[in-house]
Amino acid sequence: MRNVNLLLELQRFCDQEAEIKKRQRESVFSLLALEKTFTAAEKQWNELKQSIASYKGLLMAENLQLETIEANIKKWNTELFTTHTANPKYLRDIEAKIKENETAKSHSEDKVLEIMDLLEADEAKSIQIEKDYLDAQSLLQLKKDAHAVLVGETNSSLQDLERKKSELRLQIDEEWLATFDKTFLQSQGKAVSLISKGVCQICRFMLPTSKLDQLYTQKDELHFCDNCKRIIMVD
Ligand SMILES: [Zn+2]
Repeated sequence: MRNVNLLLELQRFCDQEAEIKKRQRESVFSLLALEKTFTAAEKQWNELKQSIASYKGLLMAENLQLETIEANIKKWNTELFTTHTANPKYLRDIEAKIKENETAKSHSEDKVLEIMDLLEADEAKSIQIEKDYLDAQSLLQLKKDAHAVLVGETNSSLQDLERKKSELRLQIDEEWLATFDKTFLQSQGKAVSLISKGVCQICRFMLPTSKLDQLYTQKDELHFCDNCKRIIMVD
């Protein structure tokens, strides 16, 4: 059939299809962005958990070390007060050992305090970081569910449009269809443009009067915009 309205209808189905595909694309991109946010939050949370575990390990080791030092000090003090020898070198050696251990004890205590500070700082951060991680996780899950629903719904709309387009194409003159398809490819998916008040609604070109006359009188012919080369028809 040589009816330009059928081409317009075909263009409208194509527009709906493009709109749906755009929504699907946007949904995919926002899903990817949320996945990225979640991965970053997860990494941060895992790193912090690891850091806390490692400080706890260090703290435990340092406490053991401290216990050993304290036991040594006790041992050498006992030795100092219970020994029966009056050998001055031996006594000085014991005193030196006690002093050495006292110094080590003081270093070890400093170390314990230092680790406890770092651990406390990590634990203080952990509340917010765990929350960020859990929030990102639930947001991602919500988006995944919404995306699955959107894809399900829109895919059935796309199938529906595909069927309508095929049925419509059967009614259109073959030569016109070929022109539509060629124009469609060359004009970013907009093959048909409406002319309103003498102006092409896509490229805003003002058509010459002679062209407008043709448009109104030769309704069984295809007409094209002089500027954007799209198929034109009157509103
Ligand atoms: Zn135009």
